[in-house]
Amino acid sequence: MNGIYIHFPFCEKRCTYCAFSSFCNLQEKDRYIDKLLEEIDEFNTKNLKINENLPIFHKNNDNFDKNNILNIDSIYIGGGTPSLLEIKDLEKIFASLNKKFKVARDSEITIESNPNSLTVEKLAYYNNLGINRLSLGVQSLDDEKLKFLGRLHSSSQALEAIRLAKKYFDNISVDMLIGIKGQEEQAFIDELDRLIEEGVNHISTYMLQVEEGTELARQYQKNPFLLPDEDETVKIYEKTREFLINRGFIQYEISNFAQKNKESRHNIKYWTGENYVGFGLSAHSYIYGFRSANANNFSDYYSGKKVLYEKLDKGQLIEEAVMLGLRCYCGVDITYLKKLGYDIEKNENFSYFCDKNIIKKENNRVFLNPKYYGVSNYIIVKLLG
Ligand code: SF4
Repeated sequence: MNGIYIHFPFCEKRCTYCAFSSFCNLQEKDRYIDKLLEEIDEFNTKNLKINENLPIFHKNNDNFDKNNILNIDSIYIGGGTPSLLEIKDLEKIFASLNKKFKVARDSEITIESNPNSLTVEKLAYYNNLGINRLSLGVQSLDDEKLKFLGRLHSSSQALEAIRLAKKYFDNISVDMLIGIKGQEEQAFIDELDRLIEEGVNHISTYMLQVEEGTELARQYQKNPFLLPDEDETVKIYEKTREFLINRGFIQYEISNFAQKNKESRHNIKYWTGENYVGFGLSAHSYIYGFRSANANNFSDYYSGKKVLYEKLDKGQLIEEAVMLGLRCYCGVDITYLKKLGYDIEKNENFSYFCDKNIIKKENNRVFLNPKYYGVSNYIIVKLLG
């Protein structure tokens, strides 16, 4: 089935490393919500362009009826800081979505939250609204590191938020950052251990990146020793993998670990070529071979401007299928690639990688051995020939 992404681009304060579409002008919020609701109301399958020659490869996208797009089984409210959304606004968003789309009863509905803006009242309302998955931006359980990152919460607030959330949710995900200066392997593993003890079901571990235009980039320019060297970071990532797998988590994507049946249904759509419709500033959509993106500034978004609208050609479709599929446990469908004109088994490195147990072929799909996720870029390039 299909997914919906809603972007709420407001934050109380910008974190030092943040390169997402997030702004602190909360006075803009009401106007933004009005536009967001308008965008949902105006969504019309008649206006959609789809690529009817797209080879069928996903069981759920098995016919090209545009109205299929209205069948939804995942909604993801991301940001920004969606926990700053007022309940009345969330109610309006869900009312609009339910009016326009057929949202399955067992849909996965996620909201991203920051520990400092989460309250018992909000958690109870989320629950009432049918939200059943909480994604918390914890990032670290070390107060000094949280300060360095410019986060507004402390480690104790993060733990308290998880404890509160556990009363309402049995599906809690946390984001954690690897690659912060001074981060020690064992200390980080202890943090993960603590999170699991508190009942977290899903952990996303991202590498801290220096993105252009951020406060971190400015600091890094003045002090190139601000970040640990890459080898140290890779060691922490490897240890993280080992630890989480030992604790019963499944690594279902390069940065994502989940307890059984707690994998994010919504995120899997991004990696397997399923359709998703994005609403809001800078939100992306992918619908049957067409990709589009909304503008990433308020005035252009309000005027309905798209900054991207493209029909993916065969080369792009092949590249995406290999790149995204090999980085997650879903793998790549060999027949789908063949229909696009690429026989991956004829690639000169294919047999060698199979012999070395770097990739494996099973049920007509190719999977990358998760041990090699850390060097996936290299392997993917070789397999794309
Ligand atoms: S809370 Fe998230 S979106 Fe907001 S500034 Fe920090 S990193 Fe960016």
